[in-house]
Amino acid sequence: MHDPFALSERLAGLEAAGLLRRRRSVQRVAADGVRCVSDGRELLSFCSNDYLGLARDQRVAETLADAAREHGAGAGASHLVSGHHREHHALEEELAAFTGRQRALLLSTGYMANLGVVAALAGRGDAVFEDRLNHASLLDAGLLSGARFSRFPHADAAALEARLAGCGRQRRLVLTDGVFSMDGDVAPLGSLADACRRQSAWLVVDDAHGLGVLGPGGRGSLELHGLGPEDVPVLVGTLGKAFGTFGAFVAGSADLVDFLIQRARTYVYTTALPPAVAAATRRALALSIAEPWRRERVLGLVDRFRRQAAQTDLPLADSTTPIQLVLVGEARAAVAASERLLAQGLLVPAIRPPTVPEGSSRLRVTFSAGHTDQQVDRLVDALVEALADASAADREADRRGLSPQGTVPSSVGT
Ligand SMILES: *Cc1c(COP(=O)(O)O)cnc(C)c1O
Repeated sequence: MHDPFALSERLAGLEAAGLLRRRRSVQRVAADGVRCVSDGRELLSFCSNDYLGLARDQRVAETLADAAREHGAGAGASHLVSGHHREHHALEEELAAFTGRQRALLLSTGYMANLGVVAALAGRGDAVFEDRLNHASLLDAGLLSGARFSRFPHADAAALEARLAGCGRQRRLVLTDGVFSMDGDVAPLGSLADACRRQSAWLVVDDAHGLGVLGPGGRGSLELHGLGPEDVPVLVGTLGKAFGTFGAFVAGSADLVDFLIQRARTYVYTTALPPAVAAATRRALALSIAEPWRRERVLGLVDRFRRQAAQTDLPLADSTTPIQLVLVGEARAAVAASERLLAQGLLVPAIRPPTVPEGSSRLRVTFSAGHTDQQVDRLVDALVEALADASAADREADRRGLSPQGTVPSSVGT
C-alpha cells in the first residue's frame, strides 16, 4: 500500500531508539485492586491511580451493574440533546457540594475537560500561562486555545507574577496541576493564587491526583492549602483516579458552568457519559467520604515507604503524595531497574525522555489503600536490589562501550 506517511519506517526508527511504547494487558485478580495477572504471571502493581482502592470495590461495581440494568449501557446522546440524565445531574450536585462550589459540570474525560474549559475561556487576544511541568492535557489545551501561550518555571510564583505583570493582555488564565503527575509534588497554590489576585488573572487548578486523597476531608490540594473559589475560580477534577470510575468535572460559579454549557466544545459535541457510570461514581464519592480510612491508609503507606527508604540510599524525590519517584538518571538504568522489578513480580514503570528531561529518568511508584505494609516493605527491598544491579550493569555496559540504544528493552515504561 502506498504510504506517504512512512509509518513503518517511523515505527522502526522508534523501535531502534528504544522508544517504542507497548501496551501490557493487565487483569486485576483480587478485590484489593493491586494484585494482577499479565502474560500469565501474577504481579503486584505499583502503578495505578486507584489511590483509594475503589476501582475494584464490589459495592461500586454492583451499583454500576444495577444502574446499567435500569438505564442501559449508554446515554444515547449528548447532554444538550437528550443525554442529560438524572444520575448525571445528581452527581454534578454532589461534586459541587464536595468541592464547596456553586456548580459542577460533568465531562467525559479529564483531557476533554481541560481542552473544553481553556478554549471556552481563552482565545486569540488572550494569554495563557502554564507551569512547565503541567500535564499534557493542560499544555495541549493552552496551545489549542489560540491564546498567547507561555510556560513559567516549575512551581515559581514569582516568575509567573513577573510574566503576568509584563503582559498587556486583558484576560489572563493561569493553569497548573494541583499535584504534578510525574514528580508527585504539590503546586505552591497559595502563592500562585496571590500572584493571580494581584494581577487580576484567573487560576485554573487541575487536581486530578489530589482530589479524594489530600486535605483533612479529602477535598484535594486546595483544601490542603486552605483555598476556596475566590482564590481558584476554576477547579478541574477527574473521576478515573481516586474515585476509581471514569469521567471528569469542572467546578466553579454558576456563571462559569452556564458559560461552559454554551461554549465548551468538548462538552457540547460529545456523547454524555453512560448514566450507570455516573451512578457508580456517586457511590464511589459517597464511599470516599464515609471511609476516611482509605486516604489515611494510602498516606500512611507513603509515610512508611519514605521512612523505610530513608534507612537505605534510595534517592527519592521530595513528595508527600501517593506519587513517589526514585531518581535514577540514565534511561538505560531506569529501564533495567524496572525490568528487574518485573522479574520479582513488581510492576513499577520507568519514566524516561521525552516525558521527563534527559538524564532525569526515574521509577514512578504509586500507592493505593489496597496495598499492605508487607508489600511496601517488599518493594523497598526490591528497589534497593534492582538499583544496585542496574547500576552495576550500566557500568559494565559502559566499560564494553555498548550504545545506550542497544541495551534499552522497550517493553516497560513511558
Ligand atoms: C490523568 C490526568 C488527566 C486526564 O484525565 P482523564 O480523565 O484520564 O482523561 C488530566 N490532568 C491530569 C493532571 C491528570 O493526571
